Amino acid sequence: MPELPEVETTRRGLLPYVVGRSIARVEVREPRLRWPVAKKLPHALATARIGSLERRGKYLLFGTDAGTLLVHLGMSGSLRYLPSPAAPSVHDHIDVHFAEGGALRFNDPRRFGSFMLTTTPETHPLLKELGPEPLGADFDADYLAATCRKRSVAIKQHLMNAKVVVGIGNIYANEALFRAGIHPARAAGRIARARFEPLVVAARDVLKDAIEEGGTTLRNFVGGDGKPGYFRTSLRVYERDGLPCIACGAAIERRVQGQRATYYCPRCQR
Ligand SMILES: [Zn+2]
Repeated sequence: MPELPEVETTRRGLLPYVVGRSIARVEVREPRLRWPVAKKLPHALATARIGSLERRGKYLLFGTDAGTLLVHLGMSGSLRYLPSPAAPSVHDHIDVHFAEGGALRFNDPRRFGSFMLTTTPETHPLLKELGPEPLGADFDADYLAATCRKRSVAIKQHLMNAKVVVGIGNIYANEALFRAGIHPARAAGRIARARFEPLVVAARDVLKDAIEEGGTTLRNFVGGDGKPGYFRTSLRVYERDGLPCIACGAAIERRVQGQRATYYCPRCQR
C-alpha cells in the first residue's frame, strides 16, 4: 500500500511534468473507484491549467484554475507521466491528456483509489479531519504529548491515527518506535514527557530516510510503472521477527495490534 513516503515520491516524480501544463481532455474508462468518479469531472477539468502539485497526508492535490483535483492511490494505485501514451491496459482507468502532448495515467488494479474535484479543499470531508503533517512544524513533542494525555490506547495505534498525525503507516510506526526505544503496546498516556522529543525525531527521520531512498526511483514516473520502490533496505525492525536486534542481539518479536503486525525488541523497547 502506498504510504506517505511513496506518495511524496510520486509527487516529486510528477512535479516537473505536470505543473504549468494545460489539460486538453480527461478520459475516464472506469469510474468505479472507491468513490465513483463524478460524471462532470472531465468537462470541468477540460482546458484547466495545473498550477501546483501538493500533498496532504496521502492525498495528492493538483491545483488547477477549475478547482483542486484530489487523488488518492488507495491500496494499489499509481500515477505516471507518459510522453506519448500507448494503448491503455486493463487497469489504466483514467488518462489526463495535456494540450502540450503527453498524458498523466492512473492505474489501480484494486480500485480503492479516488479521483475527485473540489473547489474547497480546506473543508473537504476527506481532508478537514486530518492531523498535522509529520514533517511539518505543527508536529512536535508538545503537540504529541498533549494528544497522548490520559489516553489508554497503545502508542503504536495512536501514531497511526490520521486525526493525530497523518501518514505514519504501519511500517513507519514500527520503525519509529524501535528507533525511539518505546514499546509499541505501551499506553499513550503512560509515556514520560521526556520521551516525546526522541519519538518525534524518530518518526521524522524514518519518513525522511524513506523519501530520500525513494528519490532513486524518480525515473519510474516517466514512462515507467509509476511505482516507487518500497523502502525495505533501511528497515531495522519491520518483518525481522526471530532475527537478532541490530542494537542488542535479542530476538525481535512479533505480535498483532489492531489487526496490524507489530515488530519490536523486547529488550530495547520499554
Ligand atoms: Zn534490542
